Amino acid sequence: MDERTIARFWAKVDKSAGPDGCWMWTARLVPTGYGGFRYAGGQLAHRAAWEITHGRVPHSDGYHGTCVCHRCDVRACVNPAHLFLGTHADNMADKKSKGRASRSGPIVSVKGERVNTAKLTATDVVSLRAAVAGGCPVAKAARDFGISVHNAYSIVCGKTWRHLL
Ligand SMILES: [Zn+2]
Repeated sequence: MDERTIARFWAKVDKSAGPDGCWMWTARLVPTGYGGFRYAGGQLAHRAAWEITHGRVPHSDGYHGTCVCHRCDVRACVNPAHLFLGTHADNMADKKSKGRASRSGPIVSVKGERVNTAKLTATDVVSLRAAVAGGCPVAKAARDFGISVHNAYSIVCGKTWRHLL
């Protein structure tokens, strides 16, 4: 992965929980609750986190190939220390042992937490302003950064984060 992609990736991560905590993806989530991040090797944020740390996920046979699994069971978490490689079968066994084999499991809390813990970093603010200046609609930028449209407008017009203008 090239440096620009890696910088774009970390700009969307909330590491405020500390080195051992869950690092929450603050941008778009895919419908299954994982962080969404498009890059040359795929489109899931936790897989990107694993690849940034260890290199490409090894290819394996089978429909689902190799999974990047969560020790912490928090799908929006991208802390590389919480991720491990497994096969699809391992992943299912792991889910069963944690008591959630179905998709109706407790992934909803992730969204709630995301709202409460979504804090923008200075890098986020700079890239949000750059995105809007480059023609990205404010509503879309707000969604990408996981904040409200109102907050995004305040940032864009300099009502908040004025010191970075
Ligand atoms: Zn975690």
